[in-house]
Amino acid sequence: MHKDKYHGIKLNPMKEAAKRPVRSAARDDHRHDIEVKCVSKVYNQGKDNELKVLKNVTLCLHPGEITTIMGPSGSGKTTLLDIIGCLMRPTSGTVIIDGVDTQRLSDDELARVRREKIGFVFQNFNLITTLTADENVALPMRIAGMGKAQARERAISLLKLVDLENRLGHKPTELSGGEQQRVAIARALANNPKIILGDELTGNLDSKNSAKVMELLKALNKTKGYTFVLVTHDPNLKNYADRTINMADGEII
Ligand code: ADP
Ligand code: MG
Repeated sequence: MHKDKYHGIKLNPMKEAAKRPVRSAARDDHRHDIEVKCVSKVYNQGKDNELKVLKNVTLCLHPGEITTIMGPSGSGKTTLLDIIGCLMRPTSGTVIIDGVDTQRLSDDELARVRREKIGFVFQNFNLITTLTADENVALPMRIAGMGKAQARERAISLLKLVDLENRLGHKPTELSGGEQQRVAIARALANNPKIILGDELTGNLDSKNSAKVMELLKALNKTKGYTFVLVTHDPNLKNYADRTINMADGEII
């Protein structure tokens, strides 16, 4: 993978940038702080099967860094990541993203923060099986209102960025696991988010493909300044991280 290929690409679609508030357009460098403040999460509150999954978690995620959050299965990693990514609200506490206290936002406003600032990559890739690689990557841009031709052009650029320019027309079943995950990474970058969250993103990959995916993330981090937060129980991911946070039983340890 040539370093050069990360410099030629325009990662900032004009139309989306124009829609964004001035403050974030002015510092369009992918560097945004996320603060998790005293976050607790209780599932099934008040019922017999009540479960306290996060207990007063406070942490700061530094912009431009790769942070891994490690911990055994059941320790609350996915719950924490879903709260950081505004997919779920905490029972108490808050997450401050780029200076915005998300606790104060309506559901619509929260969805907008999620759409504009956050990209997700999941263990099972979550690609749409009936769509080709370029269509999968174009989809979030189409949903955000971008025209078909522009979305396709940008999807192709992003697939080049993840070294898949020769797989544009392939459907997920015609791609290896590692290739599917690289399509999913391209899709996560589609709307030019500030932060990319990964939940066990190497969990379904063999060691060779895991390494290739992690090298790709490291290159995107180094050349484009993307912030990554990766939750995992795979200790190998530590080697790629600027910072590792350990969790056990719903707490940072
Ligand atoms: P991890 O990702 O570290 O494995 P999770 O955040 O997925 O941990 O889950 C933490 C605990 O919360 C587990 O015991 C799990 O069974 C439970 N849990 C997760 N999601 C829910 C839910 N929607 N309702 C009830 N319990 C849940
Ligand atoms: Mg999990």
